[in-house]
Amino acid sequence: MSRYTGSVCRICRRENLKLFLKGDRCYSDKCAFDRRGYPPGQHGQRRRGKLSDYGIQLREKQKVKRMYGLSEKQFRNFFENADRGKGITGIRLLAALETRLDNTVYRLGFTNSRTQGRHFVLHKHFSVNGHYVNIPSFLVKLGDIIEVREKSREIQAIKDSMGAVVRRGIPQWLELDKDNMKGVVKALPVREDITMPIQEQLIVELYSK
Ligand code: SF4
Repeated sequence: MSRYTGSVCRICRRENLKLFLKGDRCYSDKCAFDRRGYPPGQHGQRRRGKLSDYGIQLREKQKVKRMYGLSEKQFRNFFENADRGKGITGIRLLAALETRLDNTVYRLGFTNSRTQGRHFVLHKHFSVNGHYVNIPSFLVKLGDIIEVREKSREIQAIKDSMGAVVRRGIPQWLELDKDNMKGVVKALPVREDITMPIQEQLIVELYSK
């Protein structure tokens, strides 16, 4: 199954949660979820029906997958890698998703959404430890230095995102040097760093069937 290309605001309405997929718009009074917090579609204003256990697990997986903008195959690969290693699979899954480069540049405030992060990574606007990386799924490691490329520092969208970073805040596992448009991975993300309401155990249960 390919990546979802429809209206992203429908995803928030479907998942009954603000997923902050549209940058500044999510913080404005134009947010579709704030204006119409019921599911999309013709029958959206009916009461949300009671979901089966499977339905609850599926929705949780869909929510996280779409939050990080992944296809089913990419998300499944992340899960399988997380399941292979030591530790709690659900937490390992979330930690791995957080360290994707497109997410990291978003978390550092260089972009206003993960989608924009993916585009800007593909266009080589960032370097990791001095090397340009154009792979959104690249996983950053402890001690990595992520920088906005010299000639990309005048891009208005990056400047605007950095101007709004105070509102979003920087997670504990990253450190931002705003003046030099540079960030450092000072620790690997832990469960507490992911503040969105996610029940990762439901995803593990779904994929373990
Ligand atoms: Fe979701 Fe942002 Fe759209 Fe609001 S504006 S519904 S938070 S994507």
